[in-house]
Amino acid sequence: QAGKETHQFKTEVQQLLNLIINSLYSNKDIFLRELISNASDAVDKLRFRSQTDPEILGDDTEFKIRIAVDPEARTLTVSDNGIGMTREEVMDNIGTIAKSGTAAFLEALDKVREQNALAPELIGQFGVGFYSAFIVAEQVTLITRAAGSDTAVRWTSRGDGAFTVEAAEKPERGTDVILKLKPKEESDNDYTEEWVVRDIVRKHSDFVAYLITMMVERDEPIPEQEQIKDKDGKPIGGTTRKVRVEETLNSMKAIWAKNKNDVSTEEYNEFYKHLSHDWNDPLAHLHVKLEGVTEYSALLYVPAKAPFDLFFPERKHGIQLYCKRVFIMDDCRELVPEYLRFIKGVVDAPDLNLNVSREILQQDRLVRNIRKNLVKKVLDLLKGLDDTRYDTFYQEFGPVLKEGLHSDWENKDRLAELIQFKTTRSQDKFVRLKDYVANMKPDQEEIYYITGENLTMLMNSPHLEALKAKEFEVLLMTDPVDEWVVQSLTEYDGKKLKSAEKGDLKLGEGDDEKTDVFNALFGRIKSHLASHVKDVRASSHLKASVACLSGDAQDMSAYMEKLLKASGG
Ligand code: ADP
Ligand code: MG
Repeated sequence: QAGKETHQFKTEVQQLLNLIINSLYSNKDIFLRELISNASDAVDKLRFRSQTDPEILGDDTEFKIRIAVDPEARTLTVSDNGIGMTREEVMDNIGTIAKSGTAAFLEALDKVREQNALAPELIGQFGVGFYSAFIVAEQVTLITRAAGSDTAVRWTSRGDGAFTVEAAEKPERGTDVILKLKPKEESDNDYTEEWVVRDIVRKHSDFVAYLITMMVERDEPIPEQEQIKDKDGKPIGGTTRKVRVEETLNSMKAIWAKNKNDVSTEEYNEFYKHLSHDWNDPLAHLHVKLEGVTEYSALLYVPAKAPFDLFFPERKHGIQLYCKRVFIMDDCRELVPEYLRFIKGVVDAPDLNLNVSREILQQDRLVRNIRKNLVKKVLDLLKGLDDTRYDTFYQEFGPVLKEGLHSDWENKDRLAELIQFKTTRSQDKFVRLKDYVANMKPDQEEIYYITGENLTMLMNSPHLEALKAKEFEVLLMTDPVDEWVVQSLTEYDGKKLKSAEKGDLKLGEGDDEKTDVFNALFGRIKSHLASHVKDVRASSHLKASVACLSGDAQDMSAYMEKLLKASGG
């Protein structure tokens, strides 16, 4: 346990570190936000644990995050008295990457390499917060002691392939992260300057719920009787002296508890980054305060970019639950449905019991009401976005939102207003169902769609020939989830949704005569293909092509069949 061990970083971590170290950051300051956010998380965890195990706090009950700078040594230290880590936890948490996402991460890393300019933004999506210390530090040391343990451990690395782990001395629980700063370049902030640190904390971490303090030098007036005076009574050596005092850097104001008018866009954005670990600004936010029977306040955000693990089942959800500004839990799945899992934010419900468990939450009427309420508000927010922002949203999260049509019957109509598709006539633009219906031809009664893997394939499908000839617009559905959409959404605005590739299109062009003429021929073809096809019929789909394969009205679409085969179904 005591010996000093040297370990190699996992390949993907080292790749990431190289990126961090070699990228040009437009804003290096954010490393401090990441370290403070880790410290704050660590205190959250300890406080949560102390609810069932009050002993664990000992007499160290004032939670605090301390920053210390040393200009001579060029170090900056962030300390917390949070939960700390055992040696095993250090090995597990520092030196690896979000265990669930390694493969996806590597894929994204390739993308980063291709478009290096975007690296900082992309990196921000992987929860690599701790490693951002290497943006400004040539060496990072972490000394930590887990709550309830009497041994500490020191982790240290220069980000050059290896790190060491050894036993250490630390009198109290918690974690110190010590950065040995790189030599300052012309354009850099000097992170050993008090005012620099103060400004960054105020800008990025003001709302952190724990005291963030720094020891600073102040000029203090020397009391009259302690002043040394000459024989004429004039003070010698000045009337002030330097003292070191602990200064609080943050206001700790819960931003969601403020009035909307008192919060600037920049503050909203900073809070989002704090919550989400995303380095990009959010696309939109929703700030509600509801009073009455269901009392709560909420500050929710729609990210501008989908995280790489949006479709991983074990992925954390983005809602934190508070009660009167006291953190209760994160990843609160009870507050928004699965299909809104990309929403980040905070919900504060003053009437909730502080010690609620997840099991109880599921049954809780208040929680159910809040959820119902929030879903409507989020869907309204999305509906109110201008087209450009909505399209950005839809590119990123459309496939997830569409899951709602299948799972949230109560909001089906709202969701139907929000979904959109490219069509045979829209070229690169998305069309909402409302606009599709408004543009229907006078003799058109149904909404046509076709599902498949990609737009080009669908555009050229022989199934669409007859519809194109009549200038009927067809929705082109290329998301796997669309197969479920059309099963749940069978009608919109009184018009049936109809597959362009299945059954009879009933476009009313003398199909009957055609059938008579061709009956004999069809009989012969059918006898040849007997074991492969159900029937041979005149098609209402075709114009130029001679024949195509087609499903019965109630059959699966060709794409659905393919999807099921691919998933082993
Ligand atoms: P994230 O915060 O998104 O989990 P980080 O890279 O910032 O990712 O941190 C990785 C992990 O290291 C954290 O999840 C936590 O377990 C651990 N950790 C980092 N800083 C601290 C700290 N100050 N106290 C306790 N644990 C920490
Ligand atoms: Mg972090």
